[in-house]
Amino acid sequence: MHQMTLAEIARGLAEKKFSSEELTKTLLARITQLDPQLNSFISLTEELALQQAKAADARRANGESGALLGAPIAHKDLFCTQGIRTSCGSKMLDNFKAPYDATVVAKLAAAGAVTLGKTNMDEFAMGSANESSYYGAVKNPWNLEHVPGGSSGGSAAAVAARLLPAATGTDTGGSIRQPAALTNLTGLKPTYGRVSRWGMIAYASSLDQGGPLARTAEDCALLLQGMAGFDPNDSTSIDEPVPDYSAGLNGSLQGLRIGVPKEYFGAGLDPRIAELIHNSVKELEKLGAVIKEISLPNMQHAIPAYYVIAPAEASSNLSRFDGVRFGYRCEDPKNLIDLYKRSRGEGFGPEVQRRIMVGAYALSAGYYDAYYLKAQKIRRLIKNDFMTAFNEVDIILGPTTPNPAWKLGAKNSDPVAAYLEDVYTITANLAGLPGLSMPAGFVDGLPVGVQLLAPYFQESRLLNVAHQYQLNTDWHTRTPTGF
Ligand code: GLN
Repeated sequence: MHQMTLAEIARGLAEKKFSSEELTKTLLARITQLDPQLNSFISLTEELALQQAKAADARRANGESGALLGAPIAHKDLFCTQGIRTSCGSKMLDNFKAPYDATVVAKLAAAGAVTLGKTNMDEFAMGSANESSYYGAVKNPWNLEHVPGGSSGGSAAAVAARLLPAATGTDTGGSIRQPAALTNLTGLKPTYGRVSRWGMIAYASSLDQGGPLARTAEDCALLLQGMAGFDPNDSTSIDEPVPDYSAGLNGSLQGLRIGVPKEYFGAGLDPRIAELIHNSVKELEKLGAVIKEISLPNMQHAIPAYYVIAPAEASSNLSRFDGVRFGYRCEDPKNLIDLYKRSRGEGFGPEVQRRIMVGAYALSAGYYDAYYLKAQKIRRLIKNDFMTAFNEVDIILGPTTPNPAWKLGAKNSDPVAAYLEDVYTITANLAGLPGLSMPAGFVDGLPVGVQLLAPYFQESRLLNVAHQYQLNTDWHTRTPTGF
């Protein structure tokens, strides 16, 4: 049962081959049995799951239908879930039970999805390895000595290990696409504003976007359908109609113009990954796509710009965690300053503290112009590069990551080495564009992802290309040994 995709589950439930309750019980048992090896969940919500599963079965018995009705999922633990711990992977929020559901959580629940639990993540979504969580590192099911990628590493590891068919994630600089690539999944970061951020604990508000992680593009279409849409509670949510993503999967790729940026294949890219990316290009050519070399000249400035903007926004967003209103409070504070200092010093882990310091520095008087403002100008140049490229091509294709999953601990003493792993993903966030990663092969038994980027609101195009690719390749069907 655990091998089924979301689409197969939807068919099975519709044909009454099994009930949501049966499926939910099977998966909860599987999580209890296997997750100790992976650490992909922070909280299991068994009671809620069974209640939602029974309710979904009852709705179906009453004649309701819907692809997500009774479908088991999990949420990255930064989506607020009413009455359930929402930790954001941090000691700061270890005792925080959200007073309301995030819009994404509420929408998926209304569609009948069953929440099995909350998944592990890098603390406050800062990281590319899922090693900065207060609840411990997540392991990659493809090799338990390797990282699963981050920050949505819990969602990725759980789905890759077939503990459940799909999960939500968020992507500020690659945190859906990068762990998807490193665990052999399909993950989609929507256009900024496509999915509501209300109730999604903020890391860097101008970059954050929620989206689906699943095994196939077909499943990402189903989950995104339940997540996307205008939300008056989020002032950056965009009031654009949501297309039928599943209906858009079967378009022909004949004549599709794919741009391959020459800057993507410079030093730093593992040549074995480069070869797999070229193979995926050839595959798409066979399906009728036309390949064109393009240039994104400002790409080299993306990492420095991102690692100023994201920490700057984070330092501002995280100022609310002061030990007063909610979250962790230190023992026996001597006075107010001591309360602030120790609550934040003890509640936040080292990576979060590093980002807060970098961000506060970049925003401080005298340095703002030199760093923050400069970074914003680079952001515009990066966006302009994409706009120019999309005048000539329909899709941009390249690697999702420069390397396969690294060993746990390998980059711990050198944060910049981990930041460099984001080189291919962060530009989409800086520009607000949608991006998808899909399985493209293996290097030393570890998965490799190919990334597709599209113009604003062209999620359907990404899903269509990925689905056609997946109809003609079988990388996405490979299962990690032992799971
Ligand atoms: N690795 C990037 C960072 O640490 C991106 C994280 C994310 O997308 N949440 O900022």
